[in-house]
Amino acid sequence: MTDLDDLYQELILDHYRRPRNFGRLEGADRHAEGNNPLCGDRLTVFLNLRDDVVTDVMFEGAGCAISTASASLMTEAVKGKTREQAEKLFRRFHALITGKETVGDNGPELGKLKAFAGVGQYPARVKCATLAWHAFDAALNNRFEDVTTE
Ligand code: ZN
Repeated sequence: MTDLDDLYQELILDHYRRPRNFGRLEGADRHAEGNNPLCGDRLTVFLNLRDDVVTDVMFEGAGCAISTASASLMTEAVKGKTREQAEKLFRRFHALITGKETVGDNGPELGKLKAFAGVGQYPARVKCATLAWHAFDAALNNRFEDVTTE
């Protein structure tokens, strides 16, 4: 189990140091901000939804290793998914890190997101790990109307 933990820790650190899909998604049709004052994590998730498929997703902001790596891995996980698939993934991820499900219950679907299974041991960190997901969920469900001068 130790080797696996090391592997997961390595994955989280890698995504913290080199976050994927990081930056502002220009012309995104939705976005939402996530704020976790307990830890000081603050991030914004941008996404495009076409025919109910998440065609593009990016994030920007600053936070701890867990919140940043979770946001990075989330963008990889939800890109190309339908709204329903993405929401299901969020529910399973949430169940995993709050200890309602084990890695074994989840099967292969969660993929790299399993790296956060150990976070459940640290309740304060659960908010870090789910911050990007909550922002993603808010963006998915509240259409953002861009203000334009044209
Ligand atoms: Zn944090």
